[in-house]
Amino acid sequence: MTMGKKYCIGVDVGGTNIKSAFIKDGKIIKRVKILTHAEQGPGTVVDQIKNAIQTFTKPISHIGIGIAGIIDSRKGIVRYSPNLAGWTNVRLAQTINKKFKVPVKILNDVNAICLGEWKFGAGKGYNNIFLFTLGTGVGGAAVCEGKLLFGANGFAGEFGHSVIKYDGKRCTCNQFGHLEGYVGARYIVARARRRMKKRKSSLRKYKKITPRIIAQEAKRGDALAKEIFAEIGFYIGVGLSNIISLFDPEVIIVSGGISRAGKVLFESMRKTAEQRIMGAQYRKFKIIPGKLGDDAGILGAVYFAGNFSTSST
Ligand SMILES: [Zn+2]
Repeated sequence: MTMGKKYCIGVDVGGTNIKSAFIKDGKIIKRVKILTHAEQGPGTVVDQIKNAIQTFTKPISHIGIGIAGIIDSRKGIVRYSPNLAGWTNVRLAQTINKKFKVPVKILNDVNAICLGEWKFGAGKGYNNIFLFTLGTGVGGAAVCEGKLLFGANGFAGEFGHSVIKYDGKRCTCNQFGHLEGYVGARYIVARARRRMKKRKSSLRKYKKITPRIIAQEAKRGDALAKEIFAEIGFYIGVGLSNIISLFDPEVIIVSGGISRAGKVLFESMRKTAEQRIMGAQYRKFKIIPGKLGDDAGILGAVYFAGNFSTSST
């Protein structure tokens, strides 16, 4: 199976921006980025998705859309999306298909990133992959024995909502001790701010601190930023020890800006995971950063639309 010779369109629907791209043979030819206007509800956002698609005027063979949330890829329905207000049971694939008259497939954004990295990026050539993203939320996706894992309901891979501390703090989803409550963007930034008050740090020169900035300063050697990322690495390492025990991946891909933190994060994750798995000396696995950045999701969505038959649209 291939991407096909014709042009196709990949779309990444985020809470702030909708990114789309015109793609041929797995290569991005032209990109567009427009505002999502999530606060204006599903009607407006769907119109924005259409706008992001129709900027490309050449004939296309199919459209793939990656979107955060609980996505029913088989039926092309967005069941629920945490970043998009009012999105429950939106028949997105059907609506877009009606307008553009080509096959449309939708899938969870992290699954799209995982597919993209697997087929075109850091995961190329591997059959067992676990990928996670660190942002506001913590997402996960897996390729098992050469297949993207969807699970019985299509919701597999929710790494951020796996338990790392059974009596831990309350998560945004209302459960307790989930990984996201320890390494989500909000938590990372709050932790840095608290410590900056008492200690010298290069982070002080920034008005607004983001995980990306902390990662960058960690790489440059700032002690406080390094300490934060060593701790994040610890919590993620605990989470990964469960993943490794359950799925035995060949490679674990860290996607997103924070992978820039480099050695301090990667060593901490690896060390913690190794200490906590049974039979570590017999297991071979790599933890590596993603290669495609923001393009991974768009390329993965298009690949999905071209190669998976999941719905009638
Ligand atoms: Zn949770």
